[in-house]
Amino acid sequence: MMNHAVPAPETALKTSALDAGAAGKSVAKAPAKSPAQKALEKLGLRRDIDLALHLPLRYEDETRIVRLADARDGELVQFEGQVMHSEIQIRSRRQLLVTVDDGSETCLLRFLNFYPSHQKTLSVGARVRVRGEIRGGFIGREIVHPQFKLAGGELPGALTPVYPTSAGLPQLYLRKAVLSGLSRADLSETIPAQFLDQKMPQPLCSLREALQFLHHPSPDVVLQTLEDRSHPAWQRLKAEELLAQQLSQLQARRVRAAMRAPALNGPLMRGTQCTLQEQLLERLPFRLTAAQQRVGAEIEIDLKKSIPMHRLLQGDVGAGKTVVAALAAARCIDAGWQCALMAPTEILAEQHFRKLIGWLEPLGITTAWLTGSQKTKERREMLALIASGQAGLVIGTHAVIQDKVRFKNLALAIIDEQHRFGVAQRLALRSKMNHDSSKMTEGGQEPHLLMMTATPIPRTLAMSYYADLDVSTLDELPPGRTPIVTKVVSDARRDEVIARIRGQLAEGRQIYWVCPLIEESESIDLVNATQTHEALSAALPGLMIGLLHSRMPVAEKKAVMSLFTGGQMGVLVSTTVIEVGVDVPNASLMVIEHAERFGLSQLHQLRGRVGRGAAASACVLLYSTGDAPRLGEVARARLKAMVETNDGFEIARRDLEIRGPGEFLGARQSGAPLLRFADLTTDAELLAWARDLAPLMLDQYDELAERHVLRWLGGKAEFLKA
Ligand code: ADP
Ligand code: MG
Repeated sequence: MMNHAVPAPETALKTSALDAGAAGKSVAKAPAKSPAQKALEKLGLRRDIDLALHLPLRYEDETRIVRLADARDGELVQFEGQVMHSEIQIRSRRQLLVTVDDGSETCLLRFLNFYPSHQKTLSVGARVRVRGEIRGGFIGREIVHPQFKLAGGELPGALTPVYPTSAGLPQLYLRKAVLSGLSRADLSETIPAQFLDQKMPQPLCSLREALQFLHHPSPDVVLQTLEDRSHPAWQRLKAEELLAQQLSQLQARRVRAAMRAPALNGPLMRGTQCTLQEQLLERLPFRLTAAQQRVGAEIEIDLKKSIPMHRLLQGDVGAGKTVVAALAAARCIDAGWQCALMAPTEILAEQHFRKLIGWLEPLGITTAWLTGSQKTKERREMLALIASGQAGLVIGTHAVIQDKVRFKNLALAIIDEQHRFGVAQRLALRSKMNHDSSKMTEGGQEPHLLMMTATPIPRTLAMSYYADLDVSTLDELPPGRTPIVTKVVSDARRDEVIARIRGQLAEGRQIYWVCPLIEESESIDLVNATQTHEALSAALPGLMIGLLHSRMPVAEKKAVMSLFTGGQMGVLVSTTVIEVGVDVPNASLMVIEHAERFGLSQLHQLRGRVGRGAAASACVLLYSTGDAPRLGEVARARLKAMVETNDGFEIARRDLEIRGPGEFLGARQSGAPLLRFADLTTDAELLAWARDLAPLMLDQYDELAERHVLRWLGGKAEFLKA
């Protein structure tokens, strides 16, 4: 199973990082962790180096004392002055009001919450240092809840860092922990000097200099260069991070190249008969598109090798990925091995099951079926089929990776809608091969892995970021599809939409209506699926209108789904459970309610449920602005993109533009470490540098390379392999 080494702490934060000295005293029993320590660990700040690499979000300037008369409205200021007046006001709301004069002007300090200690420090006549956001109030200038202390004392020589933190981790504690981590961490160079100025837009400073500076910049720095991360110190950090990412990907690729997988070279012993693949092709009711043929050939080449395949098959919704997967499965089974296909939802898994059984069973292939909702008896039968090897193909949900599932000889793992799975789940599926004892030689055996997705990663991003992934792309839709017309319609025009539904129903077509929420929970104003279902049922009397949402029992979901798939049900109101992969070619209208609340790729996926047959299809994006006069900019950009293009790759590109690559990747690769500092679009030059350097480092400086990856990714590097 999974074996992720937890990084051994360089200097364990055994007790409080502030509490130096206590560490090591208690040998027998580790002292209990304080809440702040736990919060540190939750942020991933375990080692000294993790703390040193925890960089400020922004800075505060406490290095200067300003004159009140010079302070601008809204500015964050620090000034010193004398307390002239102090009173507790009890009119309207109890509050402490203190007037301070710095010689140039006066300022009112307002405290809505306060303790006796406040009054004591801020007593009349005292000289105090005050920090806060100054406002021109009703009766003159004021600061609400300023920080304050007695005047005097040294001013810091550097800007004060403000770190990203979480609940239970006070900024002051974090600051000290980072400071002590920074002082202890090993910051020795891992990048050989000759590479540091190679092809760089500007020479890079040392890691130590960069970190010292970023944690405590001198006050004369141009703040803009810190904010846009163009400062040489930032450049160094981003270069480091990108190098770590490239190194670990390349390492993973090399590790994989050293692993063995069964070479699926063709039928075991079938004499002159055609291969299963050929038989399957013959039975298909359609011809493969050129793209399907090309991609199929790419996969075939991989499967014939004794190195595990690691391939992402991306293709727009409806591009026909399933048949490509079926052909790969047929090749695997033909060679005498088992294939597993895992899908994220039961509905989708069942749809695959139906389709693949239809294709493969006539060829004599036994298919097993695994889901969470299965009856024990059926489950037991399936497990037996899988363990004996009788089942050539196993289709299911997450149930496929449960411990109890033993394959006889798994050689190909296919993951549909792979972005819906976490890295750990992918790893678990790959590890399923090692249950087998007869065919295993030593360690190092892995099944071939085929991942499928309809939310493509833009090519440049895939090539540069996922160095350990081969990508096949279905860039052509099967013939005979008519493009989907997309319209953005205000919620106020619902009646027109319902009239349109009536028209479609009269023509024997089917309609999806998707709503974002199931019940009135988070926000009352969202019309929910249940309500919409009732409203539509009332507006379209005598017609069968189904309701599907994730909280329904599985059996009920299945019943509704099969009525819709079978064509008896004209309209299906649903939450986003239908998002992935559902295939009902007769459906020609997709209505998405509160379209402004959905992400772009999700909208595109939903739209892909229609336009699967020959009939002209449409997608209506119903939006509502709520109380706002108009839609927000991001929402408008999304809806506009939907109207303007049907092309999944273009959608992905726009999505990237709207959201930025960090979030873009984050949404898809749950679990994979994201880039914290670098930005793949703006730091293309640094990325190119890192990509060129990574193989050199691995070949010539493997120890440095290893230290570098460990420093940056710690125990997380293992995850990158998935
Ligand atoms: P997706 O790539 O979104 O998973 P599917 O595999 O579900 O798409 O295919 C969508 C529909 O297109 C299915 O009904 C499938 O049978 C059909 N299909 C696939 N390939 C072809 C083809 N070459 N010609 C015609 N129809 C095809
Ligand atoms: Mg699919």
